[in-house]
Amino acid sequence: MIAYLDGNFITPDQASILSVHALHYASAVFEGIRIYDGQAFMLTAHVERLLQSAEIIGLKPNLTLASCTSILTETIERSGLRNAYLRPIIFQGGPNLGVYAPDNVTRFGALIWEWPSVFGEQRAQTGISLTTDVPYRRAPELCFPSQAKSSAGYMVSGINRRKAELAGFDDALMLTHAGLIAEASGANIFMVHNGELLTPEPHGILNGITRQVVMANLPDGLICRECPLDPSDILEAEEVFLTGTAYEVIPVRQIDNTLFQVGPRTQQIMDIYRSLTSVIQSKR
Ligand code: PMP
Repeated sequence: MIAYLDGNFITPDQASILSVHALHYASAVFEGIRIYDGQAFMLTAHVERLLQSAEIIGLKPNLTLASCTSILTETIERSGLRNAYLRPIIFQGGPNLGVYAPDNVTRFGALIWEWPSVFGEQRAQTGISLTTDVPYRRAPELCFPSQAKSSAGYMVSGINRRKAELAGFDDALMLTHAGLIAEASGANIFMVHNGELLTPEPHGILNGITRQVVMANLPDGLICRECPLDPSDILEAEEVFLTGTAYEVIPVRQIDNTLFQVGPRTQQIMDIYRSLTSVIQSKR
C-alpha cells in the first residue's frame, strides 16, 4: 500500500486516519452534552440516544448504558471543566473500505472542551436570525434515519448553515421534503401562535432532548401542540425560539424578512430552562 496525505507520501502506519471507515461513509453517531458547573445535564437521555443511534445505523460498540456513563463521568471529572461541552462519538474504524464492512472495529471516543455561549451572550438574549433560503431540505424518514444523531445528517446541516451565514443570517431554517417547517442546523423550532405553543411533529427531524425537556416543563397555562407548520405560519407567529443542547433556549428575532420581538412566553421558557440547568448547581 502507498499513501499520500497533505503534501507527503507516508507509510501505511501513518495513513491509518485515511482508512477510517467513518471518514469515507459517515458511519458514525455522536452526542453533544452540556456540562453546567461540572455536572452533565440529561446525561442518561444522551447516553441512551447515543446507543440507540448506534443501533439504528448498525454499529455495535462494546458499551452499556452504565459503562458509557461511567467513562463520560470520568472524562468530565478529569477535565476539571465547569462549563463545557462533551462530545462522545461511536464510529467504524478501518481498515476495510467496503461500504458494508462488518469486520471493521467499532470505536468509541470522547472529547470535552470549554464552552462559551454558542451565539454569544448578547444574541442569547436578543435573538438570532434564520433563513429558509438554503439549498437542501430534510429527507423524510423513508429516505433517512433521522432519529439517529448521525454524522451523515450534518452534511446537509453544514451546507445549509454555510449558505445562511454567507447571506448574513445566523442559521438555516430547513424545510421538510414536503415544504413544511423542519428544524435549524442543530436545533428544534417552536412558535407561539394565537397564544398556543406550536412545534413540528418529530418526523424527519431530530426529536431533540431539549425539545422534550421544554415540552415537559411548560409555564402554567401554556399548551404545546405538535402539528404541521407551513412557512406562511411564520408571518403570523407572535414569538419564535429554538431549542438544543448547545443553543439552549434561544429567541429568534428574524426569519427571512419577518421580524419578531423576544416575547413573554419565550422569556418564561428561557427562565425555566435556566433554572432546570442550574438545579444541578444547587444540588451540589
Ligand atoms: N436538530 C438537530 C439537527 C440537531 O443537531 C440538534 C442538536 N443535537 C437538535 C435538533 C436538538 O437536539 P438536542 O436538544 O437533543 O440537543
